[in-house]
Amino acid sequence: MKYVMLLLCVNVGFAQPFDVLIKNSKIIDGSGNSWYYGDIGIKDGKINSIGLIDETDGVKIIDARGLMVVPGFIDVHTHIEGGDFRVPTADNFIFDGVTSVVTGNCGGSNEDIARYFYRLDSVKTSINISTLIGHNTVRRMVMGDAQRDPTHDEQKQMEALVEKAMGDGAAGLSTGLIYVPGTYSKTEEVIGLAKAAAKHGGVYASHIRSEGNHVLDAIEEAVNIGRQAKMPVEISHFKVTYKPNWGRSIQTLEAIENARAEGIDVNVDQYPYVASSTTLDTTLPTWAFSGGRDSLHYRLDNPAERARIKAAMLDELKGKKLKNYSYALVARYALDTSFNGKTISEINVLKGRKPKASFEVETILELVKSGRVQWYTLV
Ligand SMILES: [Zn+2]
Repeated sequence: MKYVMLLLCVNVGFAQPFDVLIKNSKIIDGSGNSWYYGDIGIKDGKINSIGLIDETDGVKIIDARGLMVVPGFIDVHTHIEGGDFRVPTADNFIFDGVTSVVTGNCGGSNEDIARYFYRLDSVKTSINISTLIGHNTVRRMVMGDAQRDPTHDEQKQMEALVEKAMGDGAAGLSTGLIYVPGTYSKTEEVIGLAKAAAKHGGVYASHIRSEGNHVLDAIEEAVNIGRQAKMPVEISHFKVTYKPNWGRSIQTLEAIENARAEGIDVNVDQYPYVASSTTLDTTLPTWAFSGGRDSLHYRLDNPAERARIKAAMLDELKGKKLKNYSYALVARYALDTSFNGKTISEINVLKGRKPKASFEVETILELVKSGRVQWYTLV
C-alpha cells in the first residue's frame, strides 16, 4: 500500500515541467556574452529556463554534448523575391538555422511594401521576413531607365516613394550602384533618398559602386551617404574582386575601421565562398542599357554602336587582367538550358566561333539580347 502511494506522488506531485530539455550544450545567447555550458528547458514551445536542470525534469531529453545552441540566425542578404511565395516553408533557411531574413537587397525590391507584407501574411512563411526598399525599383518607377539626373520633381517623387515604403514597414534603403538604372545616379540623389529612409529610422544597405579597382572610392561613397543622412550603413557582400585587387582587403577593412572610429555605424556582410553571382548584363558597359531594353537592342543592331560596346567590354576584361570569359559560368539560361553549367568560353565554341575573347564578346551579346542570364564567376 505504501509503495502505491509513492508512485502516485511521482505522477501527480512531481509532473515534469519541461516538454523538451536540451542538456549539456554550449549556449551562445546572442547578446555578445561568451558561451557557457548549460541546459535549456522548453515548455509550450518557449524557452522556459536556462541553467543546470535535472534530467528528470524533461519529457524529451536532447543530449547536445559537443554542440552549440544559439538563437536563430538573421540572414541580411537573401534576394528571396519569388522564392518567398513558391516555398513559404523556407526549408533551405530553416535547416541552416536561419529564422529571419532581409530581402530587397542591391537596389531591387517590391514596389509596394504594404501589399508585399499583406501577401506574405496570406502564405504564412515559416521565417520572419523584413525588406528594404530598393533605389533601382523606385528610380525605375519614376524615371524608367533614363541615364540622367532626376529633375527636382522626380527627386521629390522618389523620396516620397521611399517615405511611403518606410511607413509601410521597410527596414531601410538599398542600392545596387553597378546596376541599371541605379548606376546612373550621382551620390547626391542617393543621399536625398537615404535621408527619407533615415527619417523613419532606416538603415542604408548598399551593393557599392565598385568591388574591384575603385572599391575604396565606393566604400567612401557608402560611408559618406551614412554620414550625410545620419544613418547606419551596411555594405553588402563585402569583398574585392579580380586578381589585381587581391590583398586589398587590408585597405578596405581599414576604411571601415576608420569610419567606425569617426562614429559612423558601418557594418559589412559577407558570403562564405569565392564565387559571386549576378546577371550577364553586367559585362556590358552600363550606358548600353540607357533608355531601356529597346534602346539596348537598337544599339546592338547598329554596327558602330555594337563596335563601341564590344571595345568597352574587351577593355574591361583587360583591366581585370583576364584573357577570356572562361571565368564566367552560366547558371541559368531559360531559352537553352543545355548552356546551364557551361562557361562563356565553352558556349562560344559550341556556337562554332573561334576561342578568342573578341568572339566570346559576340556570344555574350547574343545571350544578353535574347534575355537575362544568371551567371557566376569562378575567379
Ligand atoms: Zn549585390
